[in-house]
Amino acid sequence: MVTAADVVRAVPDPELRAVTIGDLGIVRAVDTDGSRVSVTITPTYSGCPAMDAIRADIASALREAGFSDISVNTVLSPAWSTDWITDAGRSKLAEAGIAPPGRTVSLTLTMRCPRCGSADTEELSRFGSTACKSLWRCRSCSEPFDAVKTL
Ligand SMILES: [Zn+2]
Repeated sequence: MVTAADVVRAVPDPELRAVTIGDLGIVRAVDTDGSRVSVTITPTYSGCPAMDAIRADIASALREAGFSDISVNTVLSPAWSTDWITDAGRSKLAEAGIAPPGRTVSLTLTMRCPRCGSADTEELSRFGSTACKSLWRCRSCSEPFDAVKTL
């Protein structure tokens, strides 16, 4: 029996298709009461337009699983941090060529190149291929790469 929590955690992130929102650790709570499901999520990045897509994806995944009365709430506090990304999520991000954010704030200031692993990188732009990613370049292999934007 698949629970509502399983369904919610398996929803792919609309920005980072390689990972689920469960991998990213943004699912705070999934409460079920009969056919009623109440989901609480915390956005990865406060201005992220993907949150509307995530809400819609959660609702349609739950509807497909047979739940009809669905509410998705957003909680901004405590703020999401990259520490909430699961180890599985980190390896999936690395495989997708997206620099997994470091565990601490100081590490996120220097993104490691997902191709050669060098920490000699620079941020080119706060805005990468999507609003939730920033664009970085590796000084060792000169390859540009996307990094998950952090607060
Ligand atoms: Zn490199």
